[in-house]
Amino acid sequence: MIATPPSRSAHLEKVLIAGGGIGGLATALALARRGIASTVLERRLLFGEDGAGIQIGPNGTRILEMLGAASALKPRVTAPDALRILDAATARPLGTFPLGRWIAERHGAPYWVAHRRDLHNALLVAAEREPLIRLRMGFDVTVVEEMGDTVTAVSSAADEARGDALIAADGAWSILRRDAFAAGTPVYTGKCAVRVVLPIEEVPEALNRTEVHLWLGPDVHVVHYPVSAGHGVALVAVFDDRQVAADWSAPCDRAWVMARTTGFAPLLQDLLAKPEHWRRWSLMRLARRPRVAVGRTALLGDAAHPVLPFLAQGGVMALEDAVVVADALATDPGDPAHALAAYARRREARVRRVAQASRMNGVIFHLSGRMAAARNMVLARTPPERFMRRYDWLYGWTPPQSE
Ligand SMILES: Cc1cc2nc3c(=O)[nH]c(=O)nc-3n(C[C@H](O)[C@H](O)[C@H](O)COP(=O)(O)OP(=O)(O)OC[C@H]3O[C@@H](n4cnc5c(N)ncnc54)[C@H](O)[C@@H]3O)c2cc1C
Repeated sequence: MIATPPSRSAHLEKVLIAGGGIGGLATALALARRGIASTVLERRLLFGEDGAGIQIGPNGTRILEMLGAASALKPRVTAPDALRILDAATARPLGTFPLGRWIAERHGAPYWVAHRRDLHNALLVAAEREPLIRLRMGFDVTVVEEMGDTVTAVSSAADEARGDALIAADGAWSILRRDAFAAGTPVYTGKCAVRVVLPIEEVPEALNRTEVHLWLGPDVHVVHYPVSAGHGVALVAVFDDRQVAADWSAPCDRAWVMARTTGFAPLLQDLLAKPEHWRRWSLMRLARRPRVAVGRTALLGDAAHPVLPFLAQGGVMALEDAVVVADALATDPGDPAHALAAYARRREARVRRVAQASRMNGVIFHLSGRMAAARNMVLARTPPERFMRRYDWLYGWTPPQSE
């Protein structure tokens, strides 16, 4: 009897990942944990992750621990004691809700705040140590072709990479989503986020604590928390804005921001007056949800579902996607298209719920008049732990059992 060699599709040799951001690197690490090799194709020549702060709930820190990235990040984070909500006009406290030890004990994983660059760097350090992961910098994926059992990614310089499947983790402005998934371009929400990281010394003492601060006002909210091992404070303000910024990181000056702070409490105005230069980021949404998996190609992270930053979960959703797609491919390595369809199904309800909760927060944060007064009364009257228990469904998410 002549032994036939196993068909190529019976074994997953290599997965291509377009985009080496938070989702792309996490996917490569999650695949490596399951013994699957990957090549990450990143369009930038060098990683210089700017960005500002990122909040990483227990559903995210649990995954970072699993992927071997938590230990590198830990010295650079703060585990804030609480979420403190204030009225932007009066600086009146509206409520203080437990994070810190309370949330870590409740969910078995901490709540961290960090500089986005430190999170990316921790994932990168872990990926560079992993022999099953190859990083190709300066590779901007422009075309993806599927033929038989092979997916080919082609760059604008006509470089090619081949694999058994491709995960498109190329961010909120995903070219691949537009082309391969015919999903259209993002639509502007009418809101923008301005952001900056300040040295801690520049933050008024009254605010200089290990807490996440959330200031609420009509059509505006401001968030700040410590980053870079407590040496900096990430500051984000979300305003209504008619003008779409042309890129992620449009420069924006102090005068632009201060013109929008009329009526703010002096403490908040003083804080917002500190930075001379900000970055402005227009908040976009997709008019309709794309198909997440098509054949041997699937979308992941912001490419699949750019969520608005009102629940601080966009990056964490990319981490969750990463462990689920790796689990799906490891469970069904002989049929990547089937595995990717299963991944898309497994993420659908979760991502939709997070996106809805985030949108709802956006509405609640920006209320005015009587509706804002009613919101403030609910915040004042709800016992803090009961308030936080409402988010058990969010922070209590655990990765697939087979992990
Ligand atoms: C103001 C603001 C605050 C936020 N705060 C939080 C928060 O507190 N917590 C949280 O969890 N999330 C937060 N987010 C969201 C979070 O930053 C994103 O959800 C997260 O970065 C998504 O990761 P990603 O890997 O999908 O995309 P990205 O991190 O954007 O990575 C995409 C990568 O793909 C590369 N790329 C793009 N096109 C190509 C191509 N054609 N070929 C090859 N490479 C390509 C890019 O260079 C980049 O490296 C916030 C977002 C905003 C706007």
